[in-house]
Amino acid sequence: MVQGTVNLNTQLDREWIQEYVDDWVRFYRKATKEGKVATYIPVLAEANPEHLGISIHGKNGMVISSGDVDVVFTIQSISKVLTFIVACMERGVSYVLDRVDVEPTGEAFNSIMHLEMKSLNKPFNPFVNAGAITVTSMLEGKNSQEKLNPVFDLLEKIVGYRPIINQQVFKSEDETSARNRAIGYYLLETGLLESDLGVTLETYFKQCSIETTVNDLARIGLILANDGLDPESEEEIIPRQIARTTKALMLTCGMYDASGKFATYVGIPAKSGVSGGIVALAPPRVRPMQFPFIDGCGIGVYGPALEDRGNSIAGMKLLKHIASQWDLSIF
Ligand code: GLU
Repeated sequence: MVQGTVNLNTQLDREWIQEYVDDWVRFYRKATKEGKVATYIPVLAEANPEHLGISIHGKNGMVISSGDVDVVFTIQSISKVLTFIVACMERGVSYVLDRVDVEPTGEAFNSIMHLEMKSLNKPFNPFVNAGAITVTSMLEGKNSQEKLNPVFDLLEKIVGYRPIINQQVFKSEDETSARNRAIGYYLLETGLLESDLGVTLETYFKQCSIETTVNDLARIGLILANDGLDPESEEEIIPRQIARTTKALMLTCGMYDASGKFATYVGIPAKSGVSGGIVALAPPRVRPMQFPFIDGCGIGVYGPALEDRGNSIAGMKLLKHIASQWDLSIF
């Protein structure tokens, strides 16, 4: 699609790219009909299945947004990226990875089966529920507020405001949490939890209930794309090694048990959540010709109609299309 030099600084290129993205969102919105909103957390079932929105943030303040960009939704599993980063910042990467592995599971995110069948002494990775709950137990603090404060501090630095917890979703998760409690008890029994089970689960449900937007997710992606540095201020928001480890985990384990396919066919680090959000990113790349966001970008997507693995169905298709049009793949 893109020939010659694309310079998002010129009004013409900007308009032209905006038109393309608007067209793609219009086209892929049809795919929302092929998916279903999550219902196992009752409040999530209230989402509008036809919503689809995307925001792409590049360096130099370049932003292209399209579709339902103003919808506020809960961050769900994308919070696992943030708690992993904060746990690594508080404890060190090797401490965290001594206790949680970095291997994809090929199983559903909330699977209990593989915990025992592979006779593990540590959960597979920080992005399945067992691993994420273990990571949450490592966060410093006596209660959920103390544990989550540094997560909110990090988010505030990245998105420029202090997000809030959606109390209705938190309550809904808490009341329907039998499976996560089962995972919690299993972790407790195997000695993997580093804080009280009740506090750990409350923290976990709260982190999943943080409100966000596609703009926020794009900002998170942009900071990761830039190895943890804010491209404008050059401030180090996430230490480089932690940012890189996080991206490797996003690429290998970020899209539930569709992670292998996403890495193969889309080729960029991403993490999704059951509310329909996806955070994705493209690092700077060297190409024989110019493409939009060649210096790297963060991408936030929202589309609550999910495929059977728990990823936004239209969001994945849209990302795949953009990645192929703009040659975003890291491979
Ligand atoms: N709160 C959800 C759960 O633990 C998050 C799931 C997800 O987004 O993958 O079941």
